[in-house]
Amino acid sequence: MPAEKPLYALTGLELLDLIKQKKIGIADILESQSLRTKAVEGKVKAFARFTDNTTSGIPIAVKDNICIQGQPTTCASKILENFIPPYDATVIQRLKNAGFIIQGQTNMDEFAFGSSCENSAFFPTRNPWNLDCVPGGSSGGSAAAVAGDEAVWALGSDTGGSIRQPASFCGVVGLKPTYGRVSRYGLIAFASSLDQIGPLTKDVRDNAYLTSIISGHDPRDSTSLNLPVGDYLKSLEKDIKGIKIGVPKEYFSLSANAGLEGLDGEVKEAVEEAIAQLRKLGAVVSEVSLPHTEYAVGVYYIVATAEASSNLARFDGVQYGLRVRSADNLIAMYKKTRQAGFGPEAKRRIILGTYVLSHGYYEAYYVRALKVRALIARDFTEAFKEYDCIVTPTSPTTAFGLGEKLENPLAMYLSDVYTISANLAGVPAISVPCGFSKKGLPIGLQITAKAFDEEMLFRTAYNYEQATPWHKLKPKI
Ligand code: GLN
Repeated sequence: MPAEKPLYALTGLELLDLIKQKKIGIADILESQSLRTKAVEGKVKAFARFTDNTTSGIPIAVKDNICIQGQPTTCASKILENFIPPYDATVIQRLKNAGFIIQGQTNMDEFAFGSSCENSAFFPTRNPWNLDCVPGGSSGGSAAAVAGDEAVWALGSDTGGSIRQPASFCGVVGLKPTYGRVSRYGLIAFASSLDQIGPLTKDVRDNAYLTSIISGHDPRDSTSLNLPVGDYLKSLEKDIKGIKIGVPKEYFSLSANAGLEGLDGEVKEAVEEAIAQLRKLGAVVSEVSLPHTEYAVGVYYIVATAEASSNLARFDGVQYGLRVRSADNLIAMYKKTRQAGFGPEAKRRIILGTYVLSHGYYEAYYVRALKVRALIARDFTEAFKEYDCIVTPTSPTTAFGLGEKLENPLAMYLSDVYTISANLAGVPAISVPCGFSKKGLPIGLQITAKAFDEEMLFRTAYNYEQATPWHKLKPKI
């Protein structure tokens, strides 16, 4: 362990090791963390709020859409400004049982709608690698907190890429687990058939460790599966000689007529180099086809908005959060509350989602989207008959400038073109740093595996990471 490194710059498992050897105590970590936060948070603005902890434990940052008992949890929305959950999400309970404390709640796009963290009702978060750029989203606060060494590690949520895309933009590791691997109980729902909670960390080992803590069956989430949790740390010990990796040709030649062009040249190059590195490590790489890729974005924005419009119906001023009191009847109160409480992107999604579910359009849009979703899932099932994992870019570009895509929702939606399919298919996917652009912005490599094979993801990601320098580089803030 290089002694000159401040504690805040170490990984979670490095810190736990030092504690075990009795070289440091938890108070030392908390002190180092708080100094770091004081120095950079004013610039990065990763946190929606910090929590007062009366107990001491290993600090972790948590996205502001995961319920913490007695602690405001707002989804970065005005409509939940004064909502204080009466219970802990299952992942929070698991973290607490494992000796963690929640250091603070991270900023996000309102209700997780977005890819830049600019849809927060509070303020935008900035990318630690370049403060004029977005950190990605919607878990942008979690990614920025980890990248800027303000947090040892963090939890986020991923419905269409919200862990992986910000991880890629900020140069950290982010995992979306298999649908059903981690309990969604206490995660404020965006699209219930797509949402998963997962960790954002400084390296793959930390990610494997946190995933093993938060995973497992939960009777409170009927979609969580009762399957044994793998030994994720142990899976890192295996090399990747002979594993079969597929590279989907559609991801490198996205069809212009679906509006899906625009894989940045530097990203392409970095991913190609990463693939060469995986070959050097003994993986057998060949081209695979995921023929329905070009429909993913369209399908996602029907399914996700339909589910969101239904999930957000509960925020009506009656039971939770904001209530506008100046209305003279119930319907007017609903309207005024929702008008005042939701930001523009939330309103856009509610309108879109309500439309695709409405009489006369339900079959044409929603039901059709479900059929295509099944085809996208089948593409993966077919591919995984032959391959152990699939490797792609995480995002078509590096972090874009603040404000750059704010006026153009479609351009914003397209930044998830590579991450959305894994949610639609329910399979796990991880983003690991795989290089930097000439301007010094991180690039992410996405690895996808078959359902419940997180071990394969960690194993491949770790072997790649250990052979490359990217995870060791730090932004100068
Ligand atoms: N950026 C995508 C969206 O806006 C995905 C968000 C997410 O995964 N929560 O819907």
